Amino acid sequence: MLSKLLTPKAQKMESSLVRELLHYSQQPDILSLAGGLPDEKYMPSYPAIEALEVSQQYGPSEGEGRLRHQIAEIVKERGVAVEDNQVLVTNGSQQALDLVSRIVLDENSIILTEQPTYLAAIQVFELQGAQIKDVRSDEFGLVPDALRRAIEEYQPKAVYLIPNFQNPAGHCYSKRRRVEIAALLDEKGVLLIEDDPYFDLCYEDVDRTPITHYLETAPWVYMGSFSKVLWPGMRTGYVVSCEALVPYLVKIKQAADLHTNRLGQLMISEYLVSGAYPEHIKKLRRVYAQKRDAMARAIDVNLSGLVSYSLPAGGMFFWVKLPSGVFSDRVLRQALERKVLVLPGLPFFANASELSDGYLRLSFARVSEEDVSNAISILADVIKEIMDE
Ligand code: PMP
Repeated sequence: MLSKLLTPKAQKMESSLVRELLHYSQQPDILSLAGGLPDEKYMPSYPAIEALEVSQQYGPSEGEGRLRHQIAEIVKERGVAVEDNQVLVTNGSQQALDLVSRIVLDENSIILTEQPTYLAAIQVFELQGAQIKDVRSDEFGLVPDALRRAIEEYQPKAVYLIPNFQNPAGHCYSKRRRVEIAALLDEKGVLLIEDDPYFDLCYEDVDRTPITHYLETAPWVYMGSFSKVLWPGMRTGYVVSCEALVPYLVKIKQAADLHTNRLGQLMISEYLVSGAYPEHIKKLRRVYAQKRDAMARAIDVNLSGLVSYSLPAGGMFFWVKLPSGVFSDRVLRQALERKVLVLPGLPFFANASELSDGYLRLSFARVSEEDVSNAISILADVIKEIMDE
């Protein structure tokens, strides 16, 4: 029956591994390094809102006027020059990804991504029927020569990049790469889809200027989110875009859900008005940097010589390369038996090869120092056991 009812695309849809594993991480006896969840201990309490009734009525598809202005100011400060009318408030940046994909991708499209890339972006692009080609990336991000070759070979519609503290690999592009990639996209006229939810979670003095800043002629969209720095449950993110794309994004937003929840938009806007945001970010950076360092110490103490990683300059993730012959799925299952939840790297590869199966993504944002030390010590036992077999 279902094969007649469901579209071929719906039949082929795969569930996101992260969303499934989230069920385990909610069990109280599980030590989870799996989700990209911020630590609720450091979420500010909701601001008091006087004219709460405003949010009872339908609102504009583009988003609340004051919040759109605040977002325009935020992205301008990062180096992306926009007017308020280029801002679309979305239901998390995940919806921004979906809306952008719906207006540019179909079965005849190719999109280029980093290798590895954000797995829920893979899910969205595949749902449009687009073909994904991942481009060689290293600890500084996507390699420009490889990008040039891929653009020439595949004639892609778009390139999807997460230049700051990437999910999952944690990389942060050097300034040189940012400039080179922007020049290449201008030369070839390829759309840049830049995803930047981790911009504020920065623990080192690194350049974070969006690649969009350096573009002169290529079309672009730049997405951000309040999920990692305020309240992910509010599902409030945004996409800003070059003028030409604005009306299309608004129309697809109208069709998708009329507009983003007004209560969430009001909360975020009011919090930004309160002036508490800069101090809040400073505090988040301090506590997350400590958590990151605790995870690095635990890996160095328990797994030195066995795994490798580069210390992420921001964000929430360590991307850990396992010893050869140790596969991530096996580690996931055996660690889970001992109540430690980790995320295998494999689903983050759009075009998986044998080499893709040797990574874990470990998140340090929501675990205490004590728990991270216990979890990594158990993980080390599991890896050593698998190696000894
Ligand atoms: N992009 C990236 C790279 C992410 O890591 C995430 C969250 N895991 C998102 C987009 C979506 O975030 P949200 O919808 O909560 O804004």
